[in-house]
Amino acid sequence: MKIPVIGGGGREHALVWKLKESSRVEKIWCAPGNGGIASDAECVALDAGDVAGLVAFAEKNSPDLTVVGPELPLVNGIGDAFRERGWAIVGPSKQAAQLEGSKIFTKEFLQRHNIPTAKMYGTFESAKETYDALKNVKWPVVIKADGLCAGKGVLVAQDFDQARDFIERAMEKNELGPGGKRILLEEGLEGDELSFIVMTDGTTYAPLVPTRDHKRVFDGNQGPNTGGMGAYSTEDLLPEPLRKAIVSTIVEPTLQGLSGERIPYQGFLYIGLMLTNSGPKVLEFNCRLGDPETQAIVARMDFDLAEVLQDVAAGRLNGSKLRWKSGASACVVLASGGYPGRFETGKKIEGLTGAEQITGVNVLHAGTKRVGEDIVTCGGRVLGVTAVGPTLDAALGSAYAAADRIYFEGMHLRRDIGRHVNSLKATGN
Ligand code: AMP
Repeated sequence: MKIPVIGGGGREHALVWKLKESSRVEKIWCAPGNGGIASDAECVALDAGDVAGLVAFAEKNSPDLTVVGPELPLVNGIGDAFRERGWAIVGPSKQAAQLEGSKIFTKEFLQRHNIPTAKMYGTFESAKETYDALKNVKWPVVIKADGLCAGKGVLVAQDFDQARDFIERAMEKNELGPGGKRILLEEGLEGDELSFIVMTDGTTYAPLVPTRDHKRVFDGNQGPNTGGMGAYSTEDLLPEPLRKAIVSTIVEPTLQGLSGERIPYQGFLYIGLMLTNSGPKVLEFNCRLGDPETQAIVARMDFDLAEVLQDVAAGRLNGSKLRWKSGASACVVLASGGYPGRFETGKKIEGLTGAEQITGVNVLHAGTKRVGEDIVTCGGRVLGVTAVGPTLDAALGSAYAAADRIYFEGMHLRRDIGRHVNSLKATGN
């Protein structure tokens, strides 16, 4: 098989790494890839969101299967463009990708199908209407820009001043771009967050192992939200009654709702959940795999990913092919100092070879590039040091031992990935 992977972050490096292990795979491209992916695949200088460019690439190279990492190409319609031409691709249609591309579409969908989610106060198209509505909410309130805003479109506002500041930036100063023109207000939920990701061919689905990521930049969940500072996966994350509740109240009604509305969904569906005292509730959907959750998930895969993804694209997913390593995995993100605010790039990364010598460790690249013989930083999240082990402690021990062998100027990491585990108050009932 010849496979292009679309994207250039840690998630895509994890996918490339696993696909490369398959004896069926002859060639992998990655568009655009990064400094580490370049060792495992041929990087192609195309933007991930450039659907026309990716169609032209596929026309020329006739891949057997295309795997899409990020949401932008999906929201831009790459799934439809490829399927119309009869080309195999893993990823939902443009319409189905609205589950990520529009928070309002999603909220209305959840309400239509009685799927548990935070109560909505309303949707608004002007700042004035939104300020008025804030007079009648309970604090904290959650403000969501409708469209894609590069991870900056949600605020959990504790008081009116915080809310006004966000709304002003989104709706009056246009700082979030077109995605911030419409706003959704919803109730703030309390509990632990959990990511539940399924793979589906449109008819059948198979859950991936449960993961949790750590969004805040500093230890103890302090500081601003980031794209994710680490993730881990262990079976203990998801007690059986809770798993059953998630499947029966959320996963199945969602997939049935989509097919009932004739919105075919094929690919990965990421369900962001809040485990509240009254059961699991949907915070968000993503129409693709999460980053850095993918790094932790791929580390536990004990099956041929190329074969399974080919099955998904062909509409013949067989969940029993998904076998998982027991034990645990962990991914610790090494970020540039200052991220998610301003940070410098171009810092030389040292110690990569030594880090990968630790058993069970794989260093997945996100914001890196090659300059001559060196690998240098070129993004906020630079590396995802990923490890497996028989227990979560063992996986974390290896990941941190490897991280401690790596150095670049200003490097920042959280020291508490996987550490504040299981306060799962929700029973799932
Ligand atoms: P979203 O992109 O909708 O998942 O929002 C990003 C983050 O905002 C989530 O991972 C949560 O931490 C938080 N969040 C979103 N909706 C809510 C809510 N209704 N209550 C509390 N926190 C929320």
